[in-house]
Amino acid sequence: MTALDLDRIAAAFVKSSPLNYVAADKALRPDLVGMKMLEPPIFGFAAADDDYILSLQDNPGANLKMDPPSFWLEGAKTVISFFLPFPDEVKCSNRLDRLLPSQEYMHSRVDGQTFIVALCRHLKEALVAEGYQAVIPAADPRFWSNAAIDKQGNGMLFTSNWSERHAAYGAGLGTFSLNRALITQKGMAGRLGSLITDLELPPTPRAYTKLEEYCILCGACIVSCPAKAISLDKGKQHSPCSVYLGEILAVNRPYYGCGKCQTSVPCEHRPPRISMR
Ligand code: SF4
Ligand code: SF4
Repeated sequence: MTALDLDRIAAAFVKSSPLNYVAADKALRPDLVGMKMLEPPIFGFAAADDDYILSLQDNPGANLKMDPPSFWLEGAKTVISFFLPFPDEVKCSNRLDRLLPSQEYMHSRVDGQTFIVALCRHLKEALVAEGYQAVIPAADPRFWSNAAIDKQGNGMLFTSNWSERHAAYGAGLGTFSLNRALITQKGMAGRLGSLITDLELPPTPRAYTKLEEYCILCGACIVSCPAKAISLDKGKQHSPCSVYLGEILAVNRPYYGCGKCQTSVPCEHRPPRISMR
């Protein structure tokens, strides 16, 4: 099993799985039946003993207590991370209203997440069929996340024992943005997933040295945010964002989402600044 094999298996699943298309019994509008929710992923790989990944076990700056790969899987060799961009149809639809998420976006955000878990399971099955072990941290019973009020007055803080964004940074997929998402080579508008395996794969070189290297601090996401949750000095504040998402959920349950900070911004489709290293 090689990185190229994983790429091919994922691309075929994204294309053929009915879970990646809006189902008739869930469609928020009749014309959305069959709409594709996510594009094929790009992959990045980090060694299980990678210094950055291991540094996240107790990282107050990132508010993380990320368990190491060896916690999730004995004999772990590789963290597999991937990013699936939203299709252009979904991105464009979310430009039409400055405040409310499009129904296309909510499908990709909510049903798309179900698809990502299915894709992880599909990749795991492919690895197991080749004699390797794999664990999906975000779908593992040992995964936890919680929210707490920050004693330093920074509002609500979220902690978890696995972070898709930090795994992706470590796996060479991209760097953080002002609004705490990840800017990949395919931009920021999309979703992340990961697995840990005992298959050894060559690590993806990190073409950056700083956490927010690709963000040009242009402030476009500050202007786009309907909850005023983003600022140049504090980045993204979780509390106003969570409150806003809760309001969207209250009238669209089980659907929700926003994504305005990823829409019509310079980092939506690609990094606005590429490392010269
Ligand atoms: S819109 Fe500008 S400031 Fe916001 S994350 Fe993208 S590059 Fe950074
Ligand atoms: S998801 Fe919406 S509310 Fe939250 S930070 Fe982005 S634009 Fe603001």
